[in-house]
Amino acid sequence: FSQKYGCRRVMLKLSGEALASESGGYDDAVVKGVASQIIQAKQMCDSGRLDVGIVIGGGNYWRGRTSERIDRVKADQIGMLATVMNCIYVSEIFRSEGMCTAVFSSFTCGSMTELFSKDRVNECFEQGKVVFFAGGTGHPYFSTDTGVVLRAVEMDAGIILLAKAVDGVYDSDPRLNKEASRYDVVSIQEVIDRKLAVMDLTASVMCMEHKIALAVFDLNRKNSIAQAMQGKISGTIVTV
Ligand code: UDP
Repeated sequence: FSQKYGCRRVMLKLSGEALASESGGYDDAVVKGVASQIIQAKQMCDSGRLDVGIVIGGGNYWRGRTSERIDRVKADQIGMLATVMNCIYVSEIFRSEGMCTAVFSSFTCGSMTELFSKDRVNECFEQGKVVFFAGGTGHPYFSTDTGVVLRAVEMDAGIILLAKAVDGVYDSDPRLNKEASRYDVVSIQEVIDRKLAVMDLTASVMCMEHKIALAVFDLNRKNSIAQAMQGKISGTIVTV
């Protein structure tokens, strides 16, 4: 992996919905599947340590921008708290699978999480822990897409892995257009120019400015996360 992408530190973004079960609550099978793939990827990393940081969305609980009845700032605060709940939950499932984890948040949550600090996160990576970044950027009017890019830049990650419900980046919406074709490789400039559905604009511009590449692939495809962490991406690479 490091030979291919020149990095041994990756950020994984999971959407909140991907973790939700159809009957409400969490889909433990999905969460355990992600955990076992990360264990596998860390074990198979032949270039030494593989640092894995994880950002989880909050859409399974709440979306600030669609809550029209209340003030947007307050709605976004609820959304950020939702991402904290998701991180605490997924971290605990990871622990039950035998992993060491740490949860950092962008605002203080008492004793529930630790306040984000680059030095503290580096210590956790050195200890082999999987690190969760909760609370997004800590500010309203942003998203966890922007949150994951921000943390990737701050933590010097080499690539962001976007595990999605679709298997890559398409030139148009594959649910609406049967002729839509998937890119194997696309530049972030083209993503921005053509408004391709990868990340929101703020996050995409940050990727371009700070030269953070993305890999977009299907979360539900068997072993997709483990393979992506080993540099085998069957989906789309977004270059910078
Ligand atoms: N959110 C925010 N600032 C951030 C990250 C998230 O205000 O830096 C809020 C926002 O309301 C968002 C919600 O948290 O709708 C859940 O985050 P996510 O990125 O999953 O939003 P989604 O893409 O699901 O709307």
